[in-house]
Amino acid sequence: MGTDLANAADLLRSATDVTLLAHVSPDADALGSALALAMALRSRGAAVRVSFGFPAEIPRSLRGLDTAGLVVPAGEVPAAPSTLVALDCASERRLGELVDRVPATIAAGGRVLVVDHHVANTRFGTDHLLDESALATVVLVLDLIDELGVPLTPDIARCLYAGLIGDTGLFRRARPETHAMAARLIEAGVDPTEVTRELVDTRPFGWLRLVSAALSRAQLVPDAVDGHGLVLTVVSLHDLDGTDGVEPEDADSVVDLLRTVAEAEVAAVAKELTPNRWSVSLRAVATADVRAVAATLGGGGHRLAAGFPAEGSAEDVLMLIKNAFA
Ligand code: MN
Repeated sequence: MGTDLANAADLLRSATDVTLLAHVSPDADALGSALALAMALRSRGAAVRVSFGFPAEIPRSLRGLDTAGLVVPAGEVPAAPSTLVALDCASERRLGELVDRVPATIAAGGRVLVVDHHVANTRFGTDHLLDESALATVVLVLDLIDELGVPLTPDIARCLYAGLIGDTGLFRRARPETHAMAARLIEAGVDPTEVTRELVDTRPFGWLRLVSAALSRAQLVPDAVDGHGLVLTVVSLHDLDGTDGVEPEDADSVVDLLRTVAEAEVAAVAKELTPNRWSVSLRAVATADVRAVAATLGGGGHRLAAGFPAEGSAEDVLMLIKNAFA
């Protein structure tokens, strides 16, 4: 880890043009990591750009992180960047339509640095900064920024703080060093109240309708997971009809509501991305390993939070989820 950190910093210190990629449907950890590192590298004089393969726009809650306007559409990412950094991606598949940039960069003699904290990262780069024990990729990015000797600005600290609250579930999962990092970021200028409100506590009115529809059709399957319950539901594209300003990311909050159900060990929400194409989020309370289940269905994640893609009708997907735990 120490040599990997020094190696990653050396690589970035000598890079004059860096393309930083978050995973598809970026969350606060992925985009916060990419933006924080991009801002740090830019302060050292490098040309930088940040992107992700899907969707076309930054999810609403994360828009305020890109204060320097560093995010470019996927189509504007160079065909073969000289230095590519993939953040919070367990495998190159997580880059979506930008996945071709990895072999293109390597074929052109460039470097691909993978910075990630997922279990079983496939090590798809030329260089790696990986730590499965880190609670978020932003933890590794802060190490990297420190190694580069770049001082924390309020904007950099805000991106790191966003990733930290995102991946720790607002510090529900935390270690002493998690709070020590938060303290450092707040001292660097983060306003925790403002960031938290923007990231997790601000939604359009139409969100109430979406949640109401999704919760009204939730099902509880007792004894589905080793004697514990499974609670699940779907958010269809139809639920977004007539809900002004509601975005697919607003559906992500549904799984957080479901996982508070006392009778369930696992919560699952299938979100329809395009007609009959779904993204399934899984959350476990304590004992289940949802990453293992997601992996059998072509997905991945962490032991208590994972996901996988699915196709078919809502009924098909609900059945697929139930069968996966049977
Ligand atoms: Mn992460």
